[in-house]
Amino acid sequence: MNSFQKTAKINKIPHQSDKNATWQQLLSHTINSPQALIERLELPNSFLQGALDGANEFALKVPEPYLEKIKKGDPADPLLRQILPLDAELDTIPGYVTDPLAEMGANHRDGLIHKYKGRVLLIISGACAINCRYCFRRHFPYQENRLGPDQWQGILDYLTADPSISEVIFSGGDPLATSDERLIRMIKDLEAIPQLKRLRIHTRLPIVIPQRITTALTSILKACRFNTVMVLHANHPNELDAQTGAVVAELKQANVTVLNQAVLLKGVNDSVETLQQLSETLFHYGILPYYLFTLDPVQGAAHFNVSDDTALDLFEQLQNLLPGYLLPKLAREVPAKGSKTLLKR
Ligand SMILES: *Cc1c(COP(=O)(O)O)cnc(C)c1O
Ligand code: SF4
Repeated sequence: MNSFQKTAKINKIPHQSDKNATWQQLLSHTINSPQALIERLELPNSFLQGALDGANEFALKVPEPYLEKIKKGDPADPLLRQILPLDAELDTIPGYVTDPLAEMGANHRDGLIHKYKGRVLLIISGACAINCRYCFRRHFPYQENRLGPDQWQGILDYLTADPSISEVIFSGGDPLATSDERLIRMIKDLEAIPQLKRLRIHTRLPIVIPQRITTALTSILKACRFNTVMVLHANHPNELDAQTGAVVAELKQANVTVLNQAVLLKGVNDSVETLQQLSETLFHYGILPYYLFTLDPVQGAAHFNVSDDTALDLFEQLQNLLPGYLLPKLAREVPAKGSKTLLKR
């Protein structure tokens, strides 16, 4: 069997199992054991101790559909790099801190972050379907931070009282880790606030568990009075496939604008070829690139860092290769700024 046939065969098995599993089942049956991951992906045993140590700091968590996109026996696989805990995460590097966005400070109250004019970000759910090793959330799992009814009423009051707010952003964790019933109730409450025009959802779930895009969800998005935007999070073209295309098509049927934000990560997507392919593959499946973020300087993720100089070099080369509408904005989040900060020389 040549390697193409082999890949085709491997790809077929998950497709069949996907059909039967619901997103809730896939979300509650993630792989969390380093031992199981290493066996399943046929990785050298030399990775086990590092994976155990890293997972002690921030749990390993990867859902089945994402796992199926990882090539077996390849420690350098760009998707594997995003989820495999490593010894390097235990290194203490100056400048890499536990709360790089200073979100635990003044602006983060009761699940609501109001930093930018006109837009309010809500922490809808602390949970995620996947633990991305580079994420600032590794130090704030937010697990307890689910909005209770009192907090939700507080948020509605806050939004009602401020006529300058026109957009609500559902964020997390991952806002789609919560049930459709809860999302529907929240959207209905928000619809009653007249100055709100747009609803945005920042989520990685459709990439890691595409089954999450249910008919109940697309129906409410279609029926609600908001202009709706979904910002996905994929960092590498291998994260995207025909199933991504199918869920994006359903979102578009519901008049949702679908964008993508990515993080520039060493060993994952720090080449101009990969970034070009990411933009082109996104567009192939109906998604527009939005942001390419530099790494938040979070403790345990320094080995993913790409220097500003390299980032700008890559970006300038990318600009020469892509049409303007496929070029993401290269930006970073600076605490206490009124917007994301574009990288410049
Ligand atoms: C990133 C972010 C937003 C959205 O910024 P856009 O540039 O509009 O995408 C809004 N609020 C907070 C707190 C954010 O971190
Ligand atoms: S918040 Fe996003 S980047 Fe962070 S762990 Fe969850 S899915 Fe990954």
